[in-house]
Amino acid sequence: MIELSLEEIATVTGGRLVGPDARITGPVVTDSRECAAGSLYVARVGEHADGHDFVPAALAVGAAGVLGERAVDGASCVVVDDVELAFAEVARAVVDRAPNLQIVGITGSSGKTSTKDLLGAVLARFAPTIAPYGSLNSEVGVPLTVCRIDEATRYLVAEMGASGVGHIAYLTKIAPPSIGIVLNVGQAHMGEFGSVEAIARTKGELVEALPQDGVAILNVDDSRVRAMASRTQAKVILVGLGEDADYRATDVSIDEAGRPSYHLTCPLGEADVRLALVGEHQVGNSLSVIAAATSLGLALGDVVEAVAGAGAASRWRMEVSEVGGGVTLVNDAYNANPDSMRAALRALAHMGTSRRSIAALGEMRELGEASHDEHTAVGQLAAELGIDRLVVVGAGAQAIAQGARTAGMTADAITTVDDIDAAHDVLVEQIAPGDVVLFKSSRDSGLRMLGDRLVEES
Ligand code: ATP
Ligand code: MG
Repeated sequence: MIELSLEEIATVTGGRLVGPDARITGPVVTDSRECAAGSLYVARVGEHADGHDFVPAALAVGAAGVLGERAVDGASCVVVDDVELAFAEVARAVVDRAPNLQIVGITGSSGKTSTKDLLGAVLARFAPTIAPYGSLNSEVGVPLTVCRIDEATRYLVAEMGASGVGHIAYLTKIAPPSIGIVLNVGQAHMGEFGSVEAIARTKGELVEALPQDGVAILNVDDSRVRAMASRTQAKVILVGLGEDADYRATDVSIDEAGRPSYHLTCPLGEADVRLALVGEHQVGNSLSVIAAATSLGLALGDVVEAVAGAGAASRWRMEVSEVGGGVTLVNDAYNANPDSMRAALRALAHMGTSRRSIAALGEMRELGEASHDEHTAVGQLAAELGIDRLVVVGAGAQAIAQGARTAGMTADAITTVDDIDAAHDVLVEQIAPGDVVLFKSSRDSGLRMLGDRLVEES
């Protein structure tokens, strides 16, 4: 944390300090349970709880001050009209006080956290780096991450998520990037955005925010992302498999553990890249990481070596567990949308080249009207890829089973169940030595817990 006083926080937020001034020397948090000595506790008013009720708990563990919408007895409190906006202003003040900071912003419909983890791991090998814990990518998550930087921090990797137009622009004001990565424009949060065009417009806000001496790293293989080149004044680097990519992967191969390798050609030279991460989608993610790290001035050879050494960092993203009997469980059920579902199924197909593959799939939420067709298409793909067995979980996912049937998967290879407990029992019965099993669904469909449970029971 870059130290700020409550007086300074009142000044940058236009708020009013109630109680004695104090310096914030500890973590800035929105959860009173994460408070420590010297913390700033940001009290938010949520749907279910009012953060101001937890101020006494924050003080009990030594919080130095509170940012809130009303004063609380016994606390030094900066009182503001809108705590979320004020928190953004505090974070921006922190950024403005960081002497040597370079910010890389990452957005896209899928792969932000995977790319953030990889870039964070790579950059940390070279200089002090802050990257979000987990998937903190919102109007609260970005300030929380920003407030972790200190005077020594050289690189900040900022994951930027959006569920509406203007959201990314807002985040770039908190953490103004000099490098922006746009991975893809897919259908995540389609229900909230209404159209893919609105999603593309929003993701493009990242490159619009870049300065002239900045770098926009764009996925050449996604036409909507590629078109963003005209929306930035920054230098554009195209990455991907396409012929005109500046950072181009060729000769992509996937080993039987699902790990990709490829030949990289870029303006700095050529290299063979081997990833310790699982899934073909990591090819594009890693190209963006290599382009970003070398744009920050790091040597290509060092970056490629660091990329090769980086393992999975966040849980439930192609998280591989080897359990008894040579069974491999792959838990990718942090979340799901059609693109990430396809990526995960393709990885499963590779891993199942010489073993039996089982996909336990649940609903992809938030797809709006496209839901039925998208689930059907997932089932078709599973059949086309030669996935051996499907376990389809929950009413919202049933079209997957229909899709698989129409694409030729036999009825006895498909089991449909209503809930997680039933899926558990089916899998316990079906999984045989040597199998590889994928768990994939949207966050709240429970498949990730099912995957964890089977690991625990093994
Ligand atoms: P969220 O919006 O939930 O924060 P995210 O963009 O951070 O998602 P990740 O958590 O990195 O995405 O990945 C989610 C899933 O998407 C992974 O489990 C993986 O299967 C898949 N995935 C990762 N990278 C890509 C990619 N470049 N293209 C398609 N799918 C991807
Ligand atoms: Mg994420």
